[in-house]
Amino acid sequence: MKEVILLKYGEIILKGANRSTFEAIMLKELRRRAAKCGNFTISFAQSTVFVVPAEGTTEAQFEAMYEAAKKTFGFAGICRAAVYEKTMEDVCRGIKEYIVPKLSSMRTFKCEAKRSDKTFPLKSPEICREAGGVILSSIPSLKVDVHNPDACVDIEIRGDGAYLHVGQEKGAGGIPVGSGGRGLLLLSGGIDSPVAGYMMAKRGMKIEALHFDSYPYTSEQALEKVVSLAEIMSEYTGPMFMHVISLTEIQEALRDACNEDYFTLLLRRFMMALSDRVAKQFHCGALITGESLGQVASQTIEAINVTDPVATIPVFRPCIGLDKDEIVRYSRGMGAFETSILPYEDCCTVFTPRHPKTRPELEKVLAEEAKVDFEGLCERAMATMRDIGIK
Ligand code: ATP
Ligand code: MG
Repeated sequence: MKEVILLKYGEIILKGANRSTFEAIMLKELRRRAAKCGNFTISFAQSTVFVVPAEGTTEAQFEAMYEAAKKTFGFAGICRAAVYEKTMEDVCRGIKEYIVPKLSSMRTFKCEAKRSDKTFPLKSPEICREAGGVILSSIPSLKVDVHNPDACVDIEIRGDGAYLHVGQEKGAGGIPVGSGGRGLLLLSGGIDSPVAGYMMAKRGMKIEALHFDSYPYTSEQALEKVVSLAEIMSEYTGPMFMHVISLTEIQEALRDACNEDYFTLLLRRFMMALSDRVAKQFHCGALITGESLGQVASQTIEAINVTDPVATIPVFRPCIGLDKDEIVRYSRGMGAFETSILPYEDCCTVFTPRHPKTRPELEKVLAEEAKVDFEGLCERAMATMRDIGIK
């Protein structure tokens, strides 16, 4: 018996002529991940990817590969399966030694058989009947329930063998990263922006990240926290670059020259302008932020109307219609939450106005902005940019 990992295609089964392009990206990504975990062979047939470990693969390597595959976008389901010879005798042996131990704590089960190899002498219902018989005689307390079973035993008779498994877990879903262009994520140290990056990567976007710091008002640890968040994201998105730009001079200039009530809005206009430039430099077709309507003063529709026009490319805000609980659920799901809530300061929390404008008027914002040298400050901020490679 050999254990393998099976991954079932998600949404890409709906793709027509260009499905093979998506397939190629998914396989390439899985192979990249496999190379880090050990020695695995990866192939595909009939909407399933087969990850087969080389002789001598340890359980820890297999488990690491499983976890990496589970975080690969494009797959709806994932499971471990055992491969047996394609005879009913072998299938029954497999049921006994591989499947039955997994059912010991269950009360009900059902069998499902798929026969993509039509030369197999038994039809699907007959395979199920025989396999079910083996299970019932091994664990007499088990009952069959075809509608709502505790466990579903899958028997897939394929070209190269009989694959046995008990159900499957949800895969990462979405479509493969790299099939949907490239987006620049404005990554803070908070809860929302890593979720926004995750969501756009799930729709196929390759992510490039941009973080603004205000050293020495923000600390080295604050930056390290953002690097950790980017690393957690990269388990889904694949490797990325995180660009870091200092806002210190801009924030000091705003503090010295402008009405405090407009600080956050003015800063966000600078962020948009700088992001737009970075996006052009690194060939990103859109900006991505973690904004959620009404969450804070700078995320009212009036505030967004003041900051959004600074960008010359689309700004994607996948969290815009989610409430905090929903965003937290995503954050926990992707494993970022515990890092996101570490208490480090962000550039937005430096020089925060006591009475931020929630319904700003553009003319007034522009009048405040005219008090500083917007272009010069942007140029000098761009010159502070450094890149951190996230693997
Ligand atoms: P988050 O939890 O993502 O920090 P937030 O609720 O704290 O979001 P804001 O601080 O107003 O909201 O930021 C809104 C969005 O602006 C963030 O989701 C992020 O995309 C971007 N942003 C904020 N601060 C930074 C930063 N220091 N560097 C890069 N992007 C930032
Ligand atoms: Mg924030």
